[in-house]
Amino acid sequence: MMIWKANVPQRIQIFLWLLVRNKLLTRDNLLKRQHVADTTCLFCNEAESVNHLLFYCVVARELWREIFSPIGSNIELNSHGLLDWWARNDNKTADIMLHATALWTL
Ligand SMILES: [Zn+2]
Repeated sequence: MMIWKANVPQRIQIFLWLLVRNKLLTRDNLLKRQHVADTTCLFCNEAESVNHLLFYCVVARELWREIFSPIGSNIELNSHGLLDWWARNDNKTADIMLHATALWTL
């Protein structure tokens, strides 16, 4: 899997692995384990999920627009779309590092 080849710290590799498996502790996933009083996104008040927080939220969309607009990519913005893009761009390790950093920051 591309994640394990990415030239990023191991904790970010694990973070990315949890992301593609939808196991990050976003509020929707926390709710499966415990009571969560507020399940909305801190940025926009929509329901918080992995794909919302990291791809669909207005804040995430703006970040991805800034990242992808210089390269003109029409990537489908969700965890699977990003993973597919990485697989198709095997030699672009700098881009993978950039995306991983953006995801970690969000
Ligand atoms: Zn949001």
